[in-house]
Amino acid sequence: MIHNASLNVWKLWGGVLLALAFILVLAPNQASANSSYNAQVIADSLNVRADAAKDADVVGSVKKGEIVQVTREFHGWLKIKHGNVEGWVAGYYLLKTDKQPGSVSTASASKEQPRQVASSSSKTSVVLVDALRVRSGPGTDYKINGVLYKGAAVSIQESVKGWMQVVSGNERGWVSSQYIGEGTAVQTASGSSTSGSSNGSLRGKVIVIDPGHGGSDPGMVGTTYKTAEKTINLSTANYLKDRLQALGATVVMTRTKDDQKPELPRRVAISHEAGADAFISIHYNSSDKRNSGILSFFYSSSKDRPLAHAIERQLAGGIGLKSHGVAYGDYHVLRENRTPAVLLELGFLSNKKDEGIVRGADYQRRAADAIATGLQNYFK
Ligand SMILES: [Zn+2]
Repeated sequence: MIHNASLNVWKLWGGVLLALAFILVLAPNQASANSSYNAQVIADSLNVRADAAKDADVVGSVKKGEIVQVTREFHGWLKIKHGNVEGWVAGYYLLKTDKQPGSVSTASASKEQPRQVASSSSKTSVVLVDALRVRSGPGTDYKINGVLYKGAAVSIQESVKGWMQVVSGNERGWVSSQYIGEGTAVQTASGSSTSGSSNGSLRGKVIVIDPGHGGSDPGMVGTTYKTAEKTINLSTANYLKDRLQALGATVVMTRTKDDQKPELPRRVAISHEAGADAFISIHYNSSDKRNSGILSFFYSSSKDRPLAHAIERQLAGGIGLKSHGVAYGDYHVLRENRTPAVLLELGFLSNKKDEGIVRGADYQRRAADAIATGLQNYFK
């Protein structure tokens, strides 16, 4: 009896050790050995959780603009350190940065500084469209210096045949006067876009990124992990925005929040008002469970296809999923767009393998890098 009992204890211990080994292998902390990097919080406020799961205990929070240290990644979740707070956050609310932890970004702080607002009256001259190009002279042949956003107060220096020289915050230059009118100034930028570094290869290019769906329209929902398409469309778009700005482009987003749902004609209008050079619509796909991989759609063979080809060539270069080439697609945001436009389906949320890959920040970053390289080649 005693002999048998002790044997059972050993069996039990073996089982426990085996289970422990499994837990160690599968635990988020052990999932990857990425070296750490810094990232900036892009959500207004972001909960830090004890584990890489939506329902895990909240152990703290970080705020917009704060720089945190990222130490691990696990299926779209990032383990961060910020002061005394350490834990997991949803990866798509962070953007990689070169800035140091513990500091609040001065770039985003300076954007919040009051623009020039007329003190004598509540009405002033403001930008009437979502994004307005600022040029070095009174005409479309002049170089683009930057972009002003809806509601930005401008002080008019001079008017010449449909053009105005304006000053607004740090921006000074010429804008088409039809987009300036009387209104109430908005103190801060709309947050929809910012211009990039002054010497990148995409300097002077205005690129509209369109994260598909949003708000009450989640798009596709993953069959295995319940990934909402609208959410990863936006996070992928944010990675792309980051990359394009680093290359000097001026980026305009058709939406910047998960709960926003601009109608399709509005998305196209944003492209036209910005006078965009390219329009990139980001989506993830769904269909028969066996379907896997990337599709790049164009509408017009002359206007859109060269752009689709340039981007697809990069997406096909081994970012983690197979690309099935370019295809004709009769989508509103392509068909009604005067801007060269492409709609990308970056993987199938109905496919377990695809969903597991595309919900990760790594894949989304690789896709963003490939799209950015494709744009660089397109504009060469
Ligand atoms: Zn979609």
